[in-house]
Amino acid sequence: MRALRYDELFIGGRWQPPATDERISVISPHTEQPVGETPAASPADVDRAVQAARRAFDDGPWPRMGVDERIAKVEKLAALYAAHTDEIADLITAEMGSPRSFSRMGQAVGALAQMHLNIAVAREYPWVERRKGLFGDVQVRRAPVGVVGAIVPWNVPQFLIMPKMIPALIAGCAVVVKPAPETPIDAMWLAEMLAEIDLPEGVVSILPGGREAGESLVRHPGVDKISFTGSSATGRHIAAVCGEQLKRVSLELGGKSAAIILDDADIDRTVAHLKTASLMNNGQACVAQTRILVSERRHDDVVDALADMMAGLQVGNPADDATDIGPLVARRQQQRVQGYIQCGIDEGARMVLGGTDSPAQNGWYVRPTLFTGATNAMRIAREEIFGPVLTVLPYTDERDAVRIANDTEYGLAGSVWTSDVAHGLQIAAQIRTGTYGINMYNLDTTMPFGGFKQSGIGREFGAEGLSEYVELQTTVSADPLPPV
Ligand code: NAD
Repeated sequence: MRALRYDELFIGGRWQPPATDERISVISPHTEQPVGETPAASPADVDRAVQAARRAFDDGPWPRMGVDERIAKVEKLAALYAAHTDEIADLITAEMGSPRSFSRMGQAVGALAQMHLNIAVAREYPWVERRKGLFGDVQVRRAPVGVVGAIVPWNVPQFLIMPKMIPALIAGCAVVVKPAPETPIDAMWLAEMLAEIDLPEGVVSILPGGREAGESLVRHPGVDKISFTGSSATGRHIAAVCGEQLKRVSLELGGKSAAIILDDADIDRTVAHLKTASLMNNGQACVAQTRILVSERRHDDVVDALADMMAGLQVGNPADDATDIGPLVARRQQQRVQGYIQCGIDEGARMVLGGTDSPAQNGWYVRPTLFTGATNAMRIAREEIFGPVLTVLPYTDERDAVRIANDTEYGLAGSVWTSDVAHGLQIAAQIRTGTYGINMYNLDTTMPFGGFKQSGIGREFGAEGLSEYVELQTTVSADPLPPV
């Protein structure tokens, strides 16, 4: 494994001493022992990075070179990254407890795929178009949005950086990335690779830090656009600050997704899929299908099948290939999730499996927990728990199922489980979420992803994701324009 201790920050594409001696120490969620440490970026470091990015964007070669030249740099980065995906995955597992099976495929390989997918999209993208307008030829050009601040959480750290940093770079932007303080080391390793591809000065900075560093990036007048992934509460605050400055902003926020199991669903197949769709990454996934909606007729069969599946989950060391559920990212997250389990009991839901105690002596583990007898008014059905806790909610008929699924402030994801796919599409059309699954829920990272309602503004992945990093410029002309 690579360096676990860093003493400098990656500011404007160069390793530089931090402005303060504040540091971030990463503690293993499994052993509770130190894993490594990095400097914590301060507002002064953010200011240096934004100024470097501003110079790179306003006067430097990066936004002025051809898209192909920028793509060539990303290809170089992808080649370096591809040689290390297993090690990066293991580092992420050490930092935040994601089971190895998930951190390999869902995190590191997914992050690498984002580079290749963005390159493919950029090659087909209409950077410059000729159109016929009211007065004759018109050019519609997609220009880079400018200096981008990219802020991400810890739950899938590399997989969240890529759909921001890569399209922004390809579009010709300069980017300041602020990883979460829980996962700064993998981000520093990414910085090492970025250092090897010889980007022009100022084009990328990687500044691990907490709320203060993030806030100073959002407020900095030199930043043109904020691209944020995190909680809806923080997203609302960031959108308000950006609104004051009319700064462009896109937001990927929380979720409380409903899986509607129709009476004609194959229960064994459904529950086998829900094992990952509801519990991936120890339940720390924005798209987790955590409200399980089932009719009174199939209720007991579904609960029994879910209980069997959850009783069989292997809980333990996330570095073990066989582990299904590792520890949660931090003690505060363990306590928060256990607090929700207590809350479900206090509100009168029936706990079929699980508990508020920890299943291990060391580490921030939570028992996989299943509730039934809940209503959609309970906090366990309304709030994002971000742990391995599922709530079964009964519905009377399909209209009732759709009503319950939509009765949430969130709108990120959802799913329907049925033997009638055409009918599944009819259900999907009634649900107010940005993505939906029929007999599965997986992210298709070639397609637009994002939220309705409080789950966000904007989209990531595919051409729509690239479009978040461009401004449209329309040029009319009195005379015919030469072809593109
Ligand atoms: P969070 O909002 O607390 O923090 C996210 C990031 O924002 C961190 O880097 C943090 O340091 C930074 N931050 C905190 N306060 C800030 C401020 N005032 N200004 C600028 N930056 C600030 O989120 P979290 O609880 O750590 O992460 C989990 C959340 O992220 C969940 O709600 C989850 O659903 C969501 N999430 C959404 C997606 C998606 O694509 N929609 C993906 C993953 C996670």
